[in-house]
Amino acid sequence: MQFDILIVGAGLAGSVCARELADAGHTVLVIDKRSHVGGNAYDRYDDHGVLIHPYGPHIFHTNAKRVLEWLSRFTTWRFYEHRVLASVDGRLFPIPINRTTLNKLYRLDLDESGAAAWLERVRQPRDHIRTSEDLVLSSVGSELCEKFFRGYTRKQWGLDLSDLSAGVAARIPTRTNDDDRYFTDTYQLMPAEGYSAMFRCMLDHPNITTHLETDYFTLRSTIQARHTIYTGPIDAFFNYRFGRLPYRSILFEHRHFPDVPAYQSVGTINYPNEEDYTRVTEFKHLTGQSHTGTSIVREYPQSNGEPYYPIPRPQHEEIFQQYNALADQLLNVTFVGRLAQYRYYNMDQIVAAALKKSEYILTHLK
Ligand code: FAD
Ligand code: UDP
Repeated sequence: MQFDILIVGAGLAGSVCARELADAGHTVLVIDKRSHVGGNAYDRYDDHGVLIHPYGPHIFHTNAKRVLEWLSRFTTWRFYEHRVLASVDGRLFPIPINRTTLNKLYRLDLDESGAAAWLERVRQPRDHIRTSEDLVLSSVGSELCEKFFRGYTRKQWGLDLSDLSAGVAARIPTRTNDDDRYFTDTYQLMPAEGYSAMFRCMLDHPNITTHLETDYFTLRSTIQARHTIYTGPIDAFFNYRFGRLPYRSILFEHRHFPDVPAYQSVGTINYPNEEDYTRVTEFKHLTGQSHTGTSIVREYPQSNGEPYYPIPRPQHEEIFQQYNALADQLLNVTFVGRLAQYRYYNMDQIVAAALKKSEYILTHLK
């Protein structure tokens, strides 16, 4: 087989690169070991006709107009702002913590400046914010940390807040107003026909060939390409020569409830201290689908299994940098994506990274 470009992984990183390079006139072979395109953002209708996200809830949000415009070539959008409640001491509260959370939890009647003053009193400021524990304690103090963050983090990562880089908990802001949206990005949208339809459209190009159920490592030596784009785990590419990079996995428990029009009041409910799962998502909120029944997913984090999350810690970053130094020496291979760059990237950051890498390849490919 002879192609200009081989792309390993038909997830967002691989598909964006494929389309950019195909549009520029290159022939592209995309392979994926899974039986579908879309990577973890893949969606499908379950046996009951409800559109679900098999690999957990995916909500698109971005401030990057360029990313939105690029994706808009392949989908129209449905406006959707995600809202999340946390079940704490048997009651539901808005998360991110906001004025409503404080008033409901402590039976107060704070206005915005009162909420700010209240947080100022309980927060435990730190000179240096190094870990997620530093970040949470310096934002909301120890009681809210125990109620909303420590247990969830322990379940999600199998680690204490103090063992994770600050960036993990920094994803969740603290608010003194009543804004109960999970994200505050300028653009918060869902692909109108779903993610898989968007991916199919992206890969529908005469220069793109897609082979599914094809593992790179079983045919590495048989494919000829001038350039390879690799979006799988970087440690696997180098045969784990510096040891395994830890990734966090999740067991997704999908359930359908016939004749239950609504299972919960918002898209996701988090369970920081109760239950073995971290959160429950009801897909109809995200997709806007009408159906007489409903489908949900419960997430049980695991240490073994399909790699889903890089685990942000300084010692893991050190191992990653060893692999990254090797990657930098390979001029005919580009590493991009959440697993190849070992970065806790959202979808929009993946699109931005893939566009940047594609641009670089197009300038340098002889
Ligand atoms: P992936 O989607 O992992 O794609 C990599 C592909 O490479 C996979 O399909 C894999 O099968 C393939 N592959 C790997 N190794 C090989 C090999 N050896 N041979 C062939 N193929 C191979 N982002 C958001 O913006 N909003 C959200 O709400 C959101 N929710 C998320 C929820 C969960 C539970 C998870 C896990 C992630 C979430 N994300 C979310 C992040 C989002 O999934 C990623 O940013 C994005 O999908 C990463 O794309 P990618 O192409 O880098 O990786
Ligand atoms: N987090 C938490 N409690 C919550 C929500 C989040 O402690 O109710 C922490 C936890 O460490 C989590 C991180 O913040 O892993 C990032 O949360 P996010 O919802 O962004 O995770 P993702 O959707 O990427 O799994």
